[in-house]
Amino acid sequence: MRPTRTVGTALAALGLAAGAVLAPAPAIAAKDGGGAYDVPATQALTWPLPAGTTVVIDGPANVWQMRDFAESVDAALPGVTVVSGSAVEHPGAFVVTIEKEHRRSGTFAGFTKWRTMGPGESYPTGATITLNTYFRESPRSTRRQVAAHEFMHVLGFRHHAGDGITGAQPPLTLEPAPSPDEWTALHAYYG
Ligand SMILES: [Zn+2]
Repeated sequence: MRPTRTVGTALAALGLAAGAVLAPAPAIAAKDGGGAYDVPATQALTWPLPAGTTVVIDGPANVWQMRDFAESVDAALPGVTVVSGSAVEHPGAFVVTIEKEHRRSGTFAGFTKWRTMGPGESYPTGATITLNTYFRESPRSTRRQVAAHEFMHVLGFRHHAGDGITGAQPPLTLEPAPSPDEWTALHAYYG
């Protein structure tokens, strides 16, 4: 079922007002705009994409392994398809534009913002993920975690208290993957 316009509007407002930020230091992450780390992981999929959405990742070649993470999600979930390319190549898709910007430390490592909706649109047509190249010298596991974390926000996850990529204590592994509880929530919505 597609979200109603009201839901879509609220979602866009949430994305614009709060954004969804990951900073690697726990003290900063606790004040992050992706929601408090307080709900159970299985209840953290709060603004999912319409079922059947094709997500286009449009950005530089090196986006901290976000495409690898997205491919693993695509392979596991019938309800979402992820491709790499441009909006022109994939009309009607949900376009995630990846930007790299150099910001000072202490601001954010990654940031996700939903595009505003145009007239007659019931859902935002895309989002922008900003990766802070201040952290380009951070360990690969950290950068990959940031990229995966932001992509989980695109899929609809807010922060939560459990284990996992948008959880309070994300595992810094070289191959980030959703936790069992995060998979449970993903499968419940995306099949
Ligand atoms: Zn976040």
